[in-house]
Amino acid sequence: MDLIKIGKFISLKRKEKGITQSELAEKLYISDRAVSKWENGICLPDAGNMPLLCEILGITINDLFSGEEVDMKDTEKKLEENLLEMTKQKEQKDRQLLMIEVVLGVIITVMFTALLIVSCIFEMSNIARCILILVDTITFVIAAFFMLKIEQVAGYYECKHCHYKYVPTYLSVNLAPHMGRTRYMKCPKCNKKSWQKKVISKK
Ligand SMILES: [Zn+2]
Repeated sequence: MDLIKIGKFISLKRKEKGITQSELAEKLYISDRAVSKWENGICLPDAGNMPLLCEILGITINDLFSGEEVDMKDTEKKLEENLLEMTKQKEQKDRQLLMIEVVLGVIITVMFTALLIVSCIFEMSNIARCILILVDTITFVIAAFFMLKIEQVAGYYECKHCHYKYVPTYLSVNLAPHMGRTRYMKCPKCNKKSWQKKVISKK
C-alpha cells in the first residue's frame, strides 16, 4: 500500500471539495495533525474514520486504498490487490507483535527475578521489602496481561480436528492450559477440545 500516493489522493480530493485540513478534521471529530499525517503519507486513517472520510471526499474505500479513482472495470482486481496487501500487512504486524511478546517476556522475567533476589538478600526494612515485592508483582501482572492480549489477537489459533482458524476470547486464552504458544481450547466451530497451534495466516 502506497501511503504517499494515498496521502496525495486525500489531499487532492479534499481540495477539489474546497475544504481545508481543519474543516475536514472537524467533520471527522479528529485533530488537524491527524489529517496532515495522512496527507503526508505518514499513516493511514483509522478504519473507524474511513467510511465518513470517503463519504465526505466522494470516493469509495477501494479508491482510498488504491490512492486513485478506480475504474469500474478494474474494481474487482483492485479490490483483490488491496485485500491481499492488507492481509500481508496484518501478518507482518502479527509477527512483530509476537516478537515483542517474546522480548517483553524475557525482560520482565529477568526483572522480576532480579528484584525478588534484591528484596531477599539486601538489608532493608520490612516495609521497604513489602513495597518492593508488591511493585515487582504488580509490574509482572501488568506485563503478563499485555502478553496474553498479544497472544489473543495476533494471528489465529487452529483447531486440530476441523482446522478452523479463529481469534479466541481473552478469557479463554487466559484460562487455557498452554505449552509455549500452543493452547488447549475448545473450538467454537466443532466444539471439540484440542491443543491448538498459533498460526499467522488464515489460509
Ligand atoms: Zn474444530
